[in-house]
Amino acid sequence: MADRRRFLKTTLQGGLALGTSLGMATALPARIADAATGPGQTGPDQTPLPYPTDALEPLIDARTMDIHYTKHAAAYAKNLKDALAAEKLAPDTTMERLLPTISQHSEKMRNNAGGHYNHELFWRCMTPNGPQEPNGTLLQAILSDIGPIATFRQRFTEAAMSRFGSGWAWLYRDTQGKLKIGSTPNQDNPLMDLSPLRGTPLLGLDVWEHAYYLKYQNRRAEYVDNWFKLVNWTFVAQRFDASA
Ligand code: MN
Repeated sequence: MADRRRFLKTTLQGGLALGTSLGMATALPARIADAATGPGQTGPDQTPLPYPTDALEPLIDARTMDIHYTKHAAAYAKNLKDALAAEKLAPDTTMERLLPTISQHSEKMRNNAGGHYNHELFWRCMTPNGPQEPNGTLLQAILSDIGPIATFRQRFTEAAMSRFGSGWAWLYRDTQGKLKIGSTPNQDNPLMDLSPLRGTPLLGLDVWEHAYYLKYQNRRAEYVDNWFKLVNWTFVAQRFDASA
């Protein structure tokens, strides 16, 4: 029921037609599944991937997607739920409520709440058939806060490449409403009170080796370059508009 409530709330907030999709909770259209992880509503359960595991082939191979979703991300969700129980937090605590005070919790909570949130966002930041460039109000904000798209892409790539070891590159909206680019180690993210980057994550890139090693081995730059072709700019723009 929590999923259904969240779905209804999101659908209503998003102004999407309810139509006949209420009976299709296990097979949501991609557009509605995307909206289900808008700011403010990431519960502890994994939501279904918004596309089949082979949908991003050949740039992200099906085996990597499968292992990433069913093993790595599933473990974050499970360990998060264990930590919520151990630390006596509600089992339906949202990441958006938990992460801003994560410094008050255990290392296990930090790693797994971050890991769960980041991956739920990551799947939806990719699509096999999105527009290849940002658009609308998001495009205007990138141009004004960061610069031309080539500059955005160069700086985002630098953030991904300069992150030593495991972590994430981010486009996020800081607490002043400005778009920023940066990276965090491990499974940290800009929602966490202990992160030097603070704000709402809009676009996240997983640069852990488990995200690319089977296909790209040590070639992170090639992975990052190809990943740009998969960015779901429609989703990122929705998050930007919702974060206003
Ligand atoms: Mn990952």
